[in-house]
Amino acid sequence: MSKGKICLIYTGGTIGMVSKEGVLTPVRGKEFETSVLKKIPELEDIAEYKFIDLLNKDATNMHPNDWIKLSNEIHTQIKTRRYQGFVIVHGTDTMHFSASAIALALGENLNVPVVFTGAQTAFSVPHGDARVNLLRAFKVALSNIAEVVICFGDYVFRGCRALKKDERRFDAFWSPAYPPLAYIGEELIIHDKSLFRERREARAGINFVNGFSEGIIQVSLIPGLDPSFFSNLIEDENCNGFILHSFGAGNVPNEGDYSWMRFIKDATDNGKPVLITSQYPANAAYHSPYAPGREAYINGAIPTLNMTYACASAKFRWLLLQFEDMEKGEKVEQLKLMMNHDYVGELDKPQN
Ligand code: ASP
Repeated sequence: MSKGKICLIYTGGTIGMVSKEGVLTPVRGKEFETSVLKKIPELEDIAEYKFIDLLNKDATNMHPNDWIKLSNEIHTQIKTRRYQGFVIVHGTDTMHFSASAIALALGENLNVPVVFTGAQTAFSVPHGDARVNLLRAFKVALSNIAEVVICFGDYVFRGCRALKKDERRFDAFWSPAYPPLAYIGEELIIHDKSLFRERREARAGINFVNGFSEGIIQVSLIPGLDPSFFSNLIEDENCNGFILHSFGAGNVPNEGDYSWMRFIKDATDNGKPVLITSQYPANAAYHSPYAPGREAYINGAIPTLNMTYACASAKFRWLLLQFEDMEKGEKVEQLKLMMNHDYVGELDKPQN
């Protein structure tokens, strides 16, 4: 039987980093090939692969233009129909943001696995996770899971549901509001095929919508944060919208000098949508059951249901670009509607 074919795209990350004067630094693609890939000959036992040297970044420096570049590359390669799957080598710091953005750009008709992986340790650490994560990602790229996923440690997560949770442990990611799609054993362990999209012969062509707005401002709420520090931004023409990274179920302070309600109303009236994300994206609710959350929505804030904050921010940029020519009121209304639309399995609709 012929081996599968995989397209391996390198963007950087610890997995290939080397220490230069005590600082971990990403290597160029050429060096990654010789110092990492050539040292894992077993990859060739799993699949034939083509190596694409796209970026060499610490993922901390990835930005929306890099997502566009990466999605374009994947899309171009998908159209050749040469590959059964893709492996994207990426740093862990923003892997969950990139995976969410790429999932949205490639859309719901994606018919091959696009597998993000990386490592907590550089390849030079003998007992580290670089080698094993790459080999596992290759296995997943040949599987039936036709989605953008993060394969890390023992798990395969839907990419737009995953978050980084640990800086050192090898189980660096989790999926707070959706079960893992598979576990890694000798074979992939899949308990429930209905959790993911499978490859299908007759799936329509890719619905490719690539592009992400600039000018998003996220404010991470802390007790006693004075909203007036930010009010000038409402008039700033380079600012396209706000994210309030809130407490609990989407709760935003609503009392006295620290109330954000006026800010939310003014920004919304000025055509700058205000999204509410949460550090705990577990419940799929249109509204917080608490007054501080409820009042934020009444003043125009947009809930993000049980999306992760990483996916919500990528989706916000993605939709804002699509709606940029609309007039203020229509833009906010459309955003409200489409943020709560499920494109690629990034959210659950509330039961009531
Ligand atoms: N700072 C690194 C990066 O995100 C961390 C890692 O890859 O684990 O590129």
